Amino acid sequence: MPIEGICYNKYLYNNILFNTKNKHYNNTIYQNNSISFGSNQEKSSPKNTKAIIGLISGLGAITAGFLLFKKWNPKSVKELAEHIDFVKADKIEDAIKFAKDNLGVKLNVDGQLKTANWINEALVNLSNKTKGKVLLPKEIKIHKFWCEELQGRYNPFTRTVQLSKIYFGKAFEKDFEKVKKLGYLDNRLLTLYHEIGHGIHLTVSNIFNELFGSLKFKKIISPVKDDLTKYLGGKYYTKCEGETFAQIFGKKMCGEKLPEYAEKIWEQIGGKY
Ligand SMILES: [Zn+2]
Repeated sequence: MPIEGICYNKYLYNNILFNTKNKHYNNTIYQNNSISFGSNQEKSSPKNTKAIIGLISGLGAITAGFLLFKKWNPKSVKELAEHIDFVKADKIEDAIKFAKDNLGVKLNVDGQLKTANWINEALVNLSNKTKGKVLLPKEIKIHKFWCEELQGRYNPFTRTVQLSKIYFGKAFEKDFEKVKKLGYLDNRLLTLYHEIGHGIHLTVSNIFNELFGSLKFKKIISPVKDDLTKYLGGKYYTKCEGETFAQIFGKKMCGEKLPEYAEKIWEQIGGKY
């Protein structure tokens, strides 16, 4: 499950139950984890920690809201070819060049060839699926987050997708079994697409709706909120418009056929592709 933006208390996820089912998409295999929250055994963090996190998140969100209270028009986006052929690189330099020349994306993956090829293939599939219309981030980088539950994050100011060092970095290549034990491993493709989805959402909405959701959004999802929450993988994905948009985008691009009500919501919140 991609978690981003706010560092969640790790105890919150102690009761998550994973039901795993194999799926194959575009030669990339990943497993779809549907989650359900367990009983009332969730522990909470100390009150003052919560207050500080809340205050920082709140201040950040308010500033962002004032700065970007309009649709976002990214400039100098690389025009993508209608069809791109993925070429697996033998050297990291070639993988970085492939991403820059064909996708307009700067790769910053700690010199990891396997990860670079994996990202390139995922981006090529995304581009081809939309006949080159998708908006890709400027940069994709491996990042050390401040808590280990965080898998990915989108930075709207730099148009960068940050992917966790634990799930996408050296551990992914060298410490596969350990990462697997953490239980998140096979959601990587969905996480990557989800984060890219946040950037796309900002071109059809504004950052206020991205973070909080408009009244219209709340009205739209209210009749199907429980089903949608379950389908998208947890409460996190229906807490605001940006998360709903990003997760639906991710699932669509992974090849899932949406339930009819989710498809309708997708169109109503400006879904593209
Ligand atoms: Zn998200």
